[in-house]
Amino acid sequence: LVSREVKEEDTVIDVGGVPLGGTALAVMAGPCSVESRGQLLEAAHAVKAAGARFLRGGAFKPRTSPYEFQGLGEEGLKLLAAAREETGLKVVTEVMDVEHLDMVADYADVLQIGARNMQNYSLLRQLGRVRRPILLKRGPSATIKEWLMAAEYVVSEGNYQVALCERGIRTFETMTRNTLDLNAVPILKALTHLPVIVDPSHGIGLRAHVPAMARAGIAAGADGIIVEVHPRPEKALSDGQQSLTPAEFDELMRQVRVIAGAV
Ligand code: PEP
Ligand code: MN
Repeated sequence: LVSREVKEEDTVIDVGGVPLGGTALAVMAGPCSVESRGQLLEAAHAVKAAGARFLRGGAFKPRTSPYEFQGLGEEGLKLLAAAREETGLKVVTEVMDVEHLDMVADYADVLQIGARNMQNYSLLRQLGRVRRPILLKRGPSATIKEWLMAAEYVVSEGNYQVALCERGIRTFETMTRNTLDLNAVPILKALTHLPVIVDPSHGIGLRAHVPAMARAGIAAGADGIIVEVHPRPEKALSDGQQSLTPAEFDELMRQVRVIAGAV
Protein backbone atom coordinates (compact mmCIF):
# COMPACT_ATOMS: atom_id res chain seq x y z
CA LEU A 1 0.00 0.00 0.00
CA VAL A 2 2.90 2.39 0.61
CA SER A 3 4.38 1.68 -2.81
CA ARG A 4 4.56 4.20 -5.65
CA GLU A 5 3.19 1.50 -7.91
CA VAL A 6 -0.05 1.58 -5.94
CA LYS A 7 -0.25 5.37 -5.72
CA GLU A 8 1.83 7.61 -7.95
CA GLU A 9 1.30 11.04 -6.36
CA ASP A 10 3.15 12.07 -3.19
CA THR A 11 1.13 11.73 0.00
CA VAL A 12 0.59 15.10 1.65
CA ILE A 13 -0.53 14.78 5.28
CA ASP A 14 -2.67 17.62 6.57
CA VAL A 15 -1.62 18.25 10.17
CA GLY A 16 -4.39 20.59 11.24
CA GLY A 17 -3.78 22.91 8.30
CA VAL A 18 0.02 22.48 8.14
CA PRO A 19 1.25 20.24 5.32
CA LEU A 20 3.63 17.35 5.93
CA GLY A 21 4.91 16.27 2.51
CA GLY A 22 4.39 17.93 -0.84
CA THR A 23 6.03 21.13 -2.01
CA ALA A 24 6.42 22.96 1.33
CA LEU A 25 9.38 21.80 3.41
CA ALA A 26 8.21 20.53 6.83
CA VAL A 27 10.48 21.79 9.60
CA MET A 28 10.19 20.20 13.05
CA ALA A 29 12.39 21.52 15.83
CA GLY A 30 12.65 21.62 19.60
CA PRO A 31 14.34 19.92 22.50
CA CYS A 32 15.08 16.22 22.74
CA SER A 33 13.12 16.09 26.01
CA VAL A 34 10.53 18.37 27.54
CA GLU A 35 12.26 19.42 30.77
CA SER A 36 10.26 22.35 32.17
CA ARG A 37 7.70 24.96 31.14
CA GLY A 38 10.41 27.62 30.83
CA GLN A 39 12.72 25.45 28.71
CA LEU A 40 9.96 24.29 26.39
CA LEU A 41 8.35 27.69 25.83
CA GLU A 42 11.71 29.34 25.21
CA ALA A 43 12.56 26.66 22.64
CA ALA A 44 9.10 26.85 21.05
CA HIS A 45 9.17 30.63 20.59
CA ALA A 46 12.70 30.45 19.19
CA VAL A 47 12.01 27.73 16.62
CA LYS A 48 8.80 29.44 15.57
CA ALA A 49 10.58 32.75 15.06
CA ALA A 50 13.15 30.93 12.90
CA GLY A 51 10.41 29.45 10.70
CA ALA A 52 9.56 25.98 12.03
CA ARG A 53 5.89 24.93 11.91
CA PHE A 54 6.23 21.85 14.18
CA LEU A 55 7.51 21.62 17.76
CA ARG A 56 9.29 18.41 18.71
CA GLY A 57 9.86 17.29 22.29
CA GLY A 58 9.78 13.96 24.10
CA ALA A 59 7.68 13.38 27.21
CA PHE A 60 8.30 9.63 27.19
CA LYS A 61 11.98 9.01 26.48
CA PRO A 62 13.49 5.69 25.34
CA ARG A 63 16.83 6.03 27.17
CA THR A 64 19.64 3.51 26.80
CA SER A 65 20.12 3.49 30.58
CA PRO A 66 17.20 3.09 32.99
CA TYR A 67 19.03 5.45 35.37
CA GLU A 68 18.91 8.40 32.97
CA PHE A 69 16.11 11.00 32.72
CA GLN A 70 13.03 9.20 31.43
CA GLY A 71 10.91 12.22 30.55
CA LEU A 72 8.12 14.06 32.37
CA GLY A 73 5.33 11.77 31.12
CA GLU A 74 1.85 13.30 31.05
CA GLU A 75 3.15 16.51 32.63
CA GLY A 76 5.41 16.88 29.59
CA LEU A 77 2.46 16.33 27.26
CA LYS A 78 0.55 19.10 29.04
CA LEU A 79 3.48 21.46 28.57
CA LEU A 80 3.59 20.60 24.86
CA ALA A 81 -0.12 21.39 24.57
CA ALA A 82 0.48 24.70 26.35
CA ALA A 83 3.31 25.53 23.93
CA ARG A 84 1.00 24.75 20.99
CA GLU A 85 -1.62 27.05 22.52
CA GLU A 86 0.90 29.88 22.80
CA THR A 87 2.66 29.49 19.45
CA GLY A 88 0.36 27.65 17.06
CA LEU A 89 3.12 25.11 16.40
CA LYS A 90 2.00 21.52 15.78
CA VAL A 91 3.25 19.05 18.39
CA VAL A 92 5.38 16.02 17.45
CA THR A 93 6.05 13.68 20.37
CA GLU A 94 6.99 10.06 20.89
CA VAL A 95 4.67 7.30 21.99
CA MET A 96 6.66 4.38 23.39
CA ASP A 97 4.00 1.78 24.09
CA VAL A 98 0.41 0.72 23.50
CA GLU A 99 -0.36 1.47 27.14
CA HIS A 100 0.15 5.23 26.64
CA LEU A 101 -1.14 5.49 23.08
CA ASP A 102 -4.54 7.04 23.82
CA MET A 103 -3.02 9.49 26.28
CA VAL A 104 -0.28 10.68 23.90
CA ALA A 105 -2.73 10.85 20.99
CA ASP A 106 -4.93 13.18 23.08
CA TYR A 107 -2.14 15.78 23.24
CA ALA A 108 -0.05 15.25 20.10
CA ASP A 109 -0.61 16.39 16.51
CA VAL A 110 1.92 13.86 15.17
CA LEU A 111 2.86 10.61 16.94
CA GLN A 112 6.57 9.83 16.71
CA ILE A 113 7.57 6.17 16.76
CA GLY A 114 11.13 5.88 17.98
CA ALA A 115 13.85 3.97 16.22
CA ARG A 116 13.86 1.30 18.93
CA ASN A 117 10.17 0.64 18.35
CA MET A 118 10.18 0.43 14.58
CA GLN A 119 9.56 -3.30 14.73
CA ASN A 120 7.13 -3.28 17.66
CA TYR A 121 4.39 -4.84 15.58
CA SER A 122 1.65 -4.74 18.21
CA LEU A 123 2.25 -0.99 18.64
CA LEU A 124 2.33 -0.50 14.85
CA ARG A 125 -1.00 -2.26 14.45
CA GLN A 126 -2.59 -0.07 17.10
CA LEU A 127 -1.25 3.05 15.35
CA GLY A 128 -3.20 1.94 12.33
CA ARG A 129 -6.38 2.49 14.31
CA VAL A 130 -5.72 6.01 15.60
CA ARG A 131 -6.61 9.19 13.73
CA ARG A 132 -3.24 10.87 14.10
CA PRO A 133 -0.36 11.23 11.64
CA ILE A 134 2.62 9.00 12.41
CA LEU A 135 6.31 9.83 12.10
CA LEU A 136 7.95 6.42 11.81
CA LYS A 137 11.65 6.51 12.56
CA ARG A 138 13.99 4.01 11.01
CA GLY A 139 15.30 1.28 13.30
CA PRO A 140 19.06 1.58 13.99
CA SER A 141 19.70 -1.69 12.15
CA ALA A 142 16.68 -1.84 9.85
CA THR A 143 16.95 -2.19 6.12
CA ILE A 144 14.84 0.09 3.94
CA LYS A 145 12.67 -2.89 3.08
CA GLU A 146 12.03 -3.74 6.75
CA TRP A 147 11.21 -0.08 7.38
CA LEU A 148 8.70 0.02 4.55
CA MET A 149 7.10 -3.15 5.89
CA ALA A 150 6.80 -1.49 9.31
CA ALA A 151 4.94 1.37 7.59
CA GLU A 152 2.79 -1.22 5.86
CA TYR A 153 1.70 -2.51 9.30
CA VAL A 154 0.26 0.92 10.13
CA VAL A 155 -1.26 1.64 6.74
CA SER A 156 -2.80 -1.82 6.35
CA GLU A 157 -4.76 -1.21 9.57
CA GLY A 158 -6.31 1.91 8.05
CA ASN A 159 -4.08 4.86 8.95
CA TYR A 160 -2.62 6.25 5.73
CA GLN A 161 -1.04 9.26 7.41
CA VAL A 162 2.51 7.97 7.79
CA ALA A 163 5.79 9.83 7.24
CA LEU A 164 9.19 8.11 7.33
CA CYS A 165 12.14 9.54 9.26
CA GLU A 166 15.76 8.63 8.47
CA ARG A 167 17.69 9.11 11.73
CA GLY A 168 20.93 7.27 11.07
CA ILE A 169 21.83 3.62 11.23
CA ARG A 170 24.43 1.68 13.17
CA THR A 171 27.63 1.06 11.25
CA PHE A 172 31.27 0.28 12.14
CA GLU A 173 32.01 4.02 12.36
CA THR A 174 32.62 5.33 15.88
CA MET A 175 33.39 9.02 15.17
CA THR A 176 29.70 9.81 14.88
CA ARG A 177 26.71 8.65 16.92
CA ASN A 178 25.09 7.01 13.90
CA THR A 179 25.61 7.08 10.15
CA LEU A 180 22.92 9.21 8.51
CA ASP A 181 21.93 7.12 5.51
CA LEU A 182 21.16 9.78 2.93
CA ASN A 183 21.03 7.02 0.31
CA ALA A 184 17.66 6.20 1.83
CA VAL A 185 16.17 9.52 0.75
CA PRO A 186 16.18 9.15 -3.05
CA ILE A 187 15.56 5.40 -2.74
CA LEU A 188 12.46 5.99 -0.63
CA LYS A 189 11.24 8.81 -2.86
CA ALA A 190 11.36 6.35 -5.74
CA LEU A 191 9.79 3.42 -3.88
CA THR A 192 7.07 5.08 -1.82
CA HIS A 193 4.62 7.96 -1.94
CA LEU A 194 5.01 8.62 1.81
CA PRO A 195 6.76 11.82 2.96
CA VAL A 196 10.43 11.44 3.94
CA ILE A 197 11.93 13.42 6.83
CA VAL A 198 15.62 13.56 7.79
CA ASP A 199 16.87 13.77 11.40
CA PRO A 200 20.44 15.09 11.23
CA SER A 201 20.63 15.46 15.04
CA HIS A 202 20.51 11.74 15.85
CA GLY A 203 22.03 10.99 12.45
CA ILE A 204 25.43 12.47 13.26
CA GLY A 205 25.08 13.31 16.95
CA LEU A 206 27.49 16.27 16.90
CA ARG A 207 26.15 19.84 17.14
CA ALA A 208 28.87 21.32 14.92
CA HIS A 209 27.92 19.05 12.02
CA VAL A 210 24.15 18.94 12.31
CA PRO A 211 23.60 21.90 9.94
CA ALA A 212 25.69 20.33 7.15
CA MET A 213 23.69 17.08 7.33
CA ALA A 214 20.39 18.96 7.49
CA ARG A 215 21.33 20.83 4.31
CA ALA A 216 22.46 17.58 2.70
CA GLY A 217 19.17 15.88 3.57
CA ILE A 218 17.17 18.59 1.89
CA ALA A 219 19.47 18.62 -1.12
CA ALA A 220 18.93 14.84 -1.38
CA GLY A 221 15.19 15.41 -1.70
CA ALA A 222 13.75 15.07 1.80
CA ASP A 223 10.30 16.55 2.45
CA GLY A 224 11.43 17.95 5.76
CA ILE A 225 13.83 17.87 8.68
CA ILE A 226 13.53 17.28 12.42
CA VAL A 227 16.20 19.06 14.45
CA GLU A 228 16.98 19.19 18.17
CA VAL A 229 17.16 22.74 19.52
CA HIS A 230 17.70 23.65 23.18
CA PRO A 231 17.94 27.12 24.74
CA ARG A 232 20.98 25.95 26.74
CA PRO A 233 22.33 22.72 25.20
CA GLU A 234 25.07 22.36 27.84
CA LYS A 235 22.34 22.04 30.48
CA ALA A 236 20.09 19.64 28.53
CA LEU A 237 18.89 16.50 30.31
CA SER A 238 19.27 14.51 27.07
CA ASP A 239 21.13 14.90 23.78
CA GLY A 240 22.69 18.27 24.60
CA GLN A 241 25.79 17.36 22.58
CA GLN A 242 23.74 17.32 19.38
CA SER A 243 21.26 20.14 20.13
CA LEU A 244 21.58 23.44 18.30
CA THR A 245 21.25 26.75 20.11
CA PRO A 246 18.38 28.96 18.92
CA ALA A 247 20.91 31.18 17.11
CA GLU A 248 22.45 28.20 15.31
CA PHE A 249 19.00 26.98 14.30
CA ASP A 250 18.05 30.41 12.99
CA GLU A 251 21.18 30.45 10.83
CA LEU A 252 20.40 26.92 9.58
CA MET A 253 16.90 28.02 8.59
CA ARG A 254 18.34 30.82 6.43
CA GLN A 255 20.46 28.26 4.59
CA VAL A 256 17.58 25.80 4.37
CA ARG A 257 15.37 28.33 2.61
CA VAL A 258 18.02 28.80 -0.08
CA ILE A 259 18.47 25.05 -0.66
CA ALA A 260 14.74 24.27 -0.52
CA GLY A 261 14.19 26.94 -3.17
CA ALA A 262 16.86 25.36 -5.37
CA VAL A 263 15.75 21.69 -5.33
C1 PEP B 1 14.40 11.39 19.68
O1 PEP B 1 13.86 11.86 18.66
O2 PEP B 1 14.74 12.10 20.65
C2 PEP B 1 14.73 9.96 19.68
C3 PEP B 1 14.80 9.27 20.82
O3 PEP B 1 14.99 9.47 18.47
P1 PEP B 1 15.34 7.97 17.95
O4 PEP B 1 14.15 7.14 18.28
O5 PEP B 1 15.55 8.17 16.49
O6 PEP B 1 16.58 7.55 18.68
MN1 MN C 1 17.10 12.93 21.19
